[in-house]
Amino acid sequence: MIARARTARWRSVLILLGVVVMSSWVVAAQPPGGGTTAPPGGGTTAPPGGGTTAPPGGAPPGGGFDFPEEEEEAPSWSDDIRAQAVDIGLVVAFSALAFTSFFKKSVTLKYVTLIASVVYIGFWKSTLLSIVNVFGLFGGNLPIFRYSLAWYLLAAITIVSTILWGRVYCGRICAFGALTQLMDRVLPAKWRFNVPRAIERRASLIKYGILGATIVYFIITGNPGIYPYVEPFWLFGLHLRTPVLLTMLASLLIATVFIRNLYCRFLCPLGAFLGVLSKLTVFRIKRWSECKTCKICEKACEWGAIRGPQIIMTECVRCDDCERLYEDTKKCPHHLIIIRKADILARRAASPTPAS
Ligand code: SF4
Ligand code: SF4
Ligand code: SF4
Repeated sequence: MIARARTARWRSVLILLGVVVMSSWVVAAQPPGGGTTAPPGGGTTAPPGGGTTAPPGGAPPGGGFDFPEEEEEAPSWSDDIRAQAVDIGLVVAFSALAFTSFFKKSVTLKYVTLIASVVYIGFWKSTLLSIVNVFGLFGGNLPIFRYSLAWYLLAAITIVSTILWGRVYCGRICAFGALTQLMDRVLPAKWRFNVPRAIERRASLIKYGILGATIVYFIITGNPGIYPYVEPFWLFGLHLRTPVLLTMLASLLIATVFIRNLYCRFLCPLGAFLGVLSKLTVFRIKRWSECKTCKICEKACEWGAIRGPQIIMTECVRCDDCERLYEDTKKCPHHLIIIRKADILARRAASPTPAS
């Protein structure tokens, strides 16, 4: 049993190492200067392909003939869509993977999705949604639709899925959440410190405070520059390498080794925003009447989202752990009680009735 657990852990370590190597390769393969310099989720604000870069009417460098510049035709919508077709296709493919894993409740597919999220959403594209986008809702400063179709598709999928099922974005799509879930899978459980429930409940409110404070700060100053101090998503592009930010990031990652999903559970303002949105969730997780007294799912939930019989939708990231237990006929008391009753009835029916 112990040997099998060790083998599984080593397999997970190798997978995580593979993710890191692939991600470094993806980052290294980016064209020079092509890294992310805008805030995450900032989207493209310039037309794909850019425009004329030579100064209008300026002499060509090095002399030579100075032909008058031909007027460039403005790209049409179909040109813009064609230029973004690969990105749109990849967002569709990634979302299909994420939602297949969600609906099938498959653990293997979930980890494949998390790895794809770290590589694709994180290191490759750095297209995570961000508190900057929440600021954009208040300041009317979202990415230009025409040039950011893939980003808008991802944002629409996030909002619609949050209203329908809850924070699936956090449980499957967000690259930072995926990274911490993979860390959780790989690191030995004995290193982890379980935050007492009472503290966990209070600490989970901190993120709402951070969300409110950053929005107020943005409304007053109009400056979104606070974002790297409240969210670590810039790590995927590593474009903000100041000593303060690097120290904050290192401290957060080290603390996450000991407290699982620390940032997501207690500090993330975007998670808080999606939590508020998930109050509207239509299709909620089902519960049995036995859940009123059974604590199995509450103990299994790594996000502190179950309190007694209640699922706290603002904290739940639809990770499936409790939903798999809900259907488990070998572990869930609901099924065990039904099986036991059926067994007793079958035995009674089989035993000969005593002669009167
Ligand atoms: S809580 Fe924040 S960091 Fe965590 S998965 Fe959600 S959006 Fe990402
Ligand atoms: S194991 Fe079954 S009865 Fe117990 S809390 Fe989970 S779903 Fe409810
Ligand atoms: S275990 Fe259940 S309640 Fe907890 S986060 Fe996962 S899906 Fe949500």
